[in-house]
Order: sequence, then C-alpha cells, then structure tokens
Amino acid sequence: MRVDNFGAGPCTLPLPILEEAQAEFLDFEGSGMSILELSHRSSFYERMHEEALSLAREGSGAPEDFEVLVIAGGATMQFAMIPANLLADPASRGAYLRTGTWGRLALADAGRWGDAYCAWDGEPHGYRRMPELSEIRIESGARYLHVTSNETIGGIRMLEMPALGVPLVVDVSSDFLARPIQWELCDLVYGGVQKNLAPAGMALVFMRRSLLDNLVGTLPRFFDYRWYAAKGSTGNTPPVFPIYMMGKMLKLLRSLGGVTGLEQRTAHKAGIIYDVIDQSDGYYRSPVDPRHRSHTNVVFRLPTPEAESQFLKESNAAGLVGLKGHRSVGGCRASLYAGLQLESAARLASFMSDFRETNS
Ligand SMILES: *Cc1c(COP(=O)(O)O)cnc(C)c1O
Repeated sequence: MRVDNFGAGPCTLPLPILEEAQAEFLDFEGSGMSILELSHRSSFYERMHEEALSLAREGSGAPEDFEVLVIAGGATMQFAMIPANLLADPASRGAYLRTGTWGRLALADAGRWGDAYCAWDGEPHGYRRMPELSEIRIESGARYLHVTSNETIGGIRMLEMPALGVPLVVDVSSDFLARPIQWELCDLVYGGVQKNLAPAGMALVFMRRSLLDNLVGTLPRFFDYRWYAAKGSTGNTPPVFPIYMMGKMLKLLRSLGGVTGLEQRTAHKAGIIYDVIDQSDGYYRSPVDPRHRSHTNVVFRLPTPEAESQFLKESNAAGLVGLKGHRSVGGCRASLYAGLQLESAARLASFMSDFRETNS
C-alpha cells in the first residue's frame, strides 16, 4: 500500500508516472532493453533526452536566451560549480543571502573557491524571515547575488526576487514550478531535481547565454558550464534515470495546467495546512513570519516535545509519513511538492484537527 509521503527530499512521485516507468522498464519503446541499459548515443536515448530538456524549458517558461543543462550531483554540486565558474576572475565577488541552512552552505562553499561575502544574515533572527530589499548589501565587485527562493528546512520563501542591478543566481530546489520564475531578473536558476521532479542525483540548471559567453578561466570539463552547453549535457554519460523520470513528471505537470495550475494547487495544499495551524488556538504553532511562509515546506510545532513525538508516531501509523522536522531544527514539517496529491494534504489537515481535539 502506498502512503502519503510528506518527506522533504527525495520526494513523493505521482503513481501514474511510476506505473508508466514500470510498464516500459524491461523494453523501452521497442529497443529490447531498459532505459538504464541503452547507450546514451542511441537514437532512443537522444529522443528522450531532448524531449525532457525541452519540457523543462516549456514547463518553467525559460526564455530562448537561457541554456537548459542537466548536471550530475544535485544542488550541492552547484554550490561549488557556481563560484568555480563565476568567480574565476580574482577581482569578482559573490554576494550571498544567508537565509537558512541552504543559503549558509552555498556561501560556505563559495568561500572555499573565491571571494564570497554575506549580503544579509538571517541567523540572528533564527532564519524566521527573508530580508527586505533595503537590508541587502551589494558591495563593489559583486558579480552576482545568490538567493535561495525557498529555504526548505526553515520553511520560508522569498516573495519577490531582489532587483538590485546585479545578476541573480537562484537556488529553486524546493519550489521549482511552485510559482512562475521572474526570468527577467535572473541569470542562473538551478535546483536539485529530487524535491519536485525526479529521483536524486542531478541538478537542472538554466543559464543565460550572455553569462555563459562571458565566463573566463579553465576548469576540468566536468566543472565547466561551457562544456555542458556545448555538448547538450551529454559530454559524458548523463544521469539517465533522473532525466527520464523528469521528462515523465514534466509531461504530467503540463497536463495539469503547467506552472499556473501547479501554483494554484500548491497554494491550496499549503492553505489548508496553515488554516489548521491558525485555527488551533495556539496548539499548533508556525515559527516563521507569516509573510514569508513557504508554500512547499510547512514547518510547525506542537506545545511540547512529547506531544510532537506522539504526533509523529500516530501520523506515521495512519500512513502519513515523513513529517519529522529536519534534525537541525526539530518539530514537524510537511513538504507539499509537485508530486503530492491534494487528497494527501487534506488527509493531513483532518488528522491534525482530530489529533488536537483528542490531545488538547
Ligand atoms: C535539498 C536542497 C539542497 C541540496 O540538494 P542536493 O541535491 O541534496 O545537493 C540545496 N538547496 C536547497 C534549497 C534544497 O532544498
């Protein structure tokens, strides 16, 4: 039996695409073998690869002057690739928003490659909100501003991308397609695919061509964005299975109304959970600034640690799994990514109401 999976990543994937993959697993499109065994130089593979990348462009609305790249290694690999490519000129600096765990780790990795500084620090506020535009410090030499559109662990999201006249690099790992991307403000948009789209092991990267054309320096090919762009992300053997599943997921999302449909469904799922929290007379508590509440990761607390562990135990037994908050912050967290059905969120909301009635 399948459970309602609120895990923060890897994420739940819709049953229809899992079944489709299962049905064609032993014989992919008459090739006589599975997608995992096919040569990445075969026409079977090439068609699938091209389609997945063009669905990513279409689904995200990325303009023509962005390259769409798929790169093994997830978002953490991008934390290294971004400064390696963009800070090759020693006079350039990376500006980073430390808005939570992921912004903090991105900054720490950039500092290992080059000159990176913290343009706003949310740590003194307990990572409960995103910065106001006026709080972000752009210093001279800043080549880009790195932003985490949604902090997965703290459960906060940036409302508007900061337009400060410096190219934006945006980590959209945990809210890709949960709302439209402000492409006109962005130069590089990336995310690990395991939060919204596919199995783990890969990042989807959108990069403005003018940024690519201006890269300097020499890197091993695997680290160099120019190599991926020149080779259609097939310079070496690509992460076949995540690309294949991503294509299926994007096709399904297109049939459900694309990013507009997904934005509405995500807001709806988040709304019913936040409503239960807000109408619980303080039994459930959201620790974050209401303006910046995430729509994809709803973080909440109960009155005591004992109540929290009881809640997690009973919800798990009821088939609502993956609700434990990140080990660094504790509490509870419901991740409401693209693959999670509306019915799953509704079942969680009613479980939360019942649990409060019984236990308060
Ligand atoms: C999960 C996550 C990451 C790390 O992703 P990996 O693919 O596991 O490296 C980075 N940034 C954000 C916002 C995330 O949610």
